[in-house]
Amino acid sequence: MFISLVANSCIAFTGIYFISKIVNHRTNYLLLKKFFIGILSGCLGIFLITQGVLYEEVVKIDFRYLALILIGFYRLVSPLFIAATVISIYRFSFGLNLQSIVACIAIFLIAIGIVMIYRIARLEQKFLLFGIMLNLWACLIAFFAIYTNGGFTGSAFAVGLLVVSISFPVGLLITFLNIDVYLINQRVKEYKVSAETDHLTGLANRRAWEMQMKKFKERALICNVLILDIDHFKQINDRFGHSNGDEILKQFAQLLYRETRDHDIKARIGGEEFGILIPMLSHSEIMNVAERIRRSISKHEFKLLDERVIHISVSIGIANGKSENLQHMIHLADDCLYRAKNSGRNCTHINETVV
Ligand code: GH3
Ligand code: MG
Ligand code: MG
Repeated sequence: MFISLVANSCIAFTGIYFISKIVNHRTNYLLLKKFFIGILSGCLGIFLITQGVLYEEVVKIDFRYLALILIGFYRLVSPLFIAATVISIYRFSFGLNLQSIVACIAIFLIAIGIVMIYRIARLEQKFLLFGIMLNLWACLIAFFAIYTNGGFTGSAFAVGLLVVSISFPVGLLITFLNIDVYLINQRVKEYKVSAETDHLTGLANRRAWEMQMKKFKERALICNVLILDIDHFKQINDRFGHSNGDEILKQFAQLLYRETRDHDIKARIGGEEFGILIPMLSHSEIMNVAERIRRSISKHEFKLLDERVIHISVSIGIANGKSENLQHMIHLADDCLYRAKNSGRNCTHINETVV
């Protein structure tokens, strides 16, 4: 029997590994994902029930609640109760009797307890302690369920202890696995954001800009590439110092956020050079937008670190065309910027014919 229980633990471990991968997978379909996780965990619980081991013809021992510990660890309330419901429905399919009622009450008590633990104990970053508490709670309820269903006999007590002594360490191993998968995913997210962000301004960096460009190219849309270059920025650095220069760049980025829509892609593509990718606007529309941005920059009061106020201006080159020709458009936007600089700065130039 011991070997069968260990084999069951391995099945639980494998299933939980895959479910935790899904939990950490990024998707836009959050509701669907939660539902799917609930159903999948419920199915894992059912599978563990079917693999349960009959002890002395009295009680069947299984690790169904380990699936709940997994979802509990990720604080997913609705999947927790979906899984508990799926397991309970399956348990009732064996017949409506006292034992199945006890088993279902136990499953829901475990689920409710898990929610209470993370709502009350507030163990946000104390993953291990949180995992231990979830396991202890689940073991306690499982023990009482077995003891009750075994008729409160000495042998039911012994079975309860046996189950708990195997499932507690298995539950702990699952907690370790969860912590590991969770932390790795957190790091990956942090590194990804860090690799694609310009740390001074918080805008996308050149790498992210180029990646977005590639994605855009495949969508075959009318789009506009704007390249903005701050005028005489070197003089700002020379007069007010590099730290003040940095401060101006930060405020410039904030202004770009204010003046564009969320889905316009904004990036710092060089020292004091910024790129904006704006889809779906016509030649005349984009000219209005760019001029609005340019005017708002020239009117804006940029604050130096000592609260003094200065004004700056920007030159803008725009290429308007189809995203299939993005590479060509970037060169064109650069040419237009060059023309803007040469015609006195603080102005916008755009290509005449759509590419
Ligand atoms: P133009 O109007 O022709 O664009 O003149 P400009 O002075 O802006 O152009 P130039 O390319 O000669 O100078 C850009 C300056 O931007 C030079 C560099 O010191 C400064 N710069 C580049 N990156 C940073 C940065 O991260 N922080 C600060 N403070 N300055 C930077
Ligand atoms: Mg410049
Ligand atoms: Mg420049």
